[in-house]
Amino acid sequence: MPPITTMKMLEKMYEINPDDVIEEEIERGKLIFKTEKEEKAISIDELEEAGYGRRENCRYCEISIPVMADLACGNWGAGENETFVEIFTEKGLKLMNNAVELGLIETAPATEKGIKIRGKTDGVMEKVAKKWHKKIFVPIGDRLERLHYYMDVMEDCIDCEACKYVCPVCSCDESKCIDFYDPMDSHKISIYHLVRLLHLSDSCIGCGQCTDVCPAEIPLTTLHRRMADRIQTKYNYIPGMDMKIPPSFEVE
Ligand code: SF4
Ligand code: SF4
Ligand code: SF4
Repeated sequence: MPPITTMKMLEKMYEINPDDVIEEEIERGKLIFKTEKEEKAISIDELEEAGYGRRENCRYCEISIPVMADLACGNWGAGENETFVEIFTEKGLKLMNNAVELGLIETAPATEKGIKIRGKTDGVMEKVAKKWHKKIFVPIGDRLERLHYYMDVMEDCIDCEACKYVCPVCSCDESKCIDFYDPMDSHKISIYHLVRLLHLSDSCIGCGQCTDVCPAEIPLTTLHRRMADRIQTKYNYIPGMDMKIPPSFEVE
């Protein structure tokens, strides 16, 4: 969740001063906050019902365990005071070995029961994510209705370009999309956004940062994912999963 929303949630739902929080944990579907004096847990379902909890993009993300990373750490399948660590690369292995050699951590092989629990929890979360996806991405009629949907949602854009600067997959040096911004532009949806929607349709990873940063509170991630879902499904490409496979529209 963005920081301001988290602070509001802490005050309203947990009745905790955000400055007093010393630890945060997610366990058995509950979000737990600890202070020096107390510990309070509220179910994530209840938080989301009240408009808090996970960001929208996290709710429909089907990749709970980042298998494309060097390491994945979590508490699914781990015992009390333990962390379940999955190692996916040589780099990850080296990091773990170094930490063990330096005496920073102690390791033990995962138990069969732990592996089963982890796999089962991952499967359950994938199903939950699919349900959220269906709930959020309700089809919007024909092409004209879809165009109007984009125009209406983006109408409040003040062309601050913040969504471009935070986007982790926009790495081009020239940022040509900015050239299309004209303060005299009277279109309801700027060419800047049209270029971005097209450029990100193959590479948007749904990280949510554009929505977090937008001062006009435009749900940009949902807009980009609406476009990207169609393109990425068509080209059978999931960005961010394999560094060796370039995005479908990559040009030299
Ligand atoms: S959600 Fe997509 S468009 Fe938005 S910042 Fe992340 S990668 Fe970029
Ligand atoms: S939208 Fe396209 S032109 Fe703009 S910064 Fe991203 S990749 Fe570059
Ligand atoms: S961050 Fe929001 S207001 Fe700024 S350019 Fe992007 S959509 Fe427009």
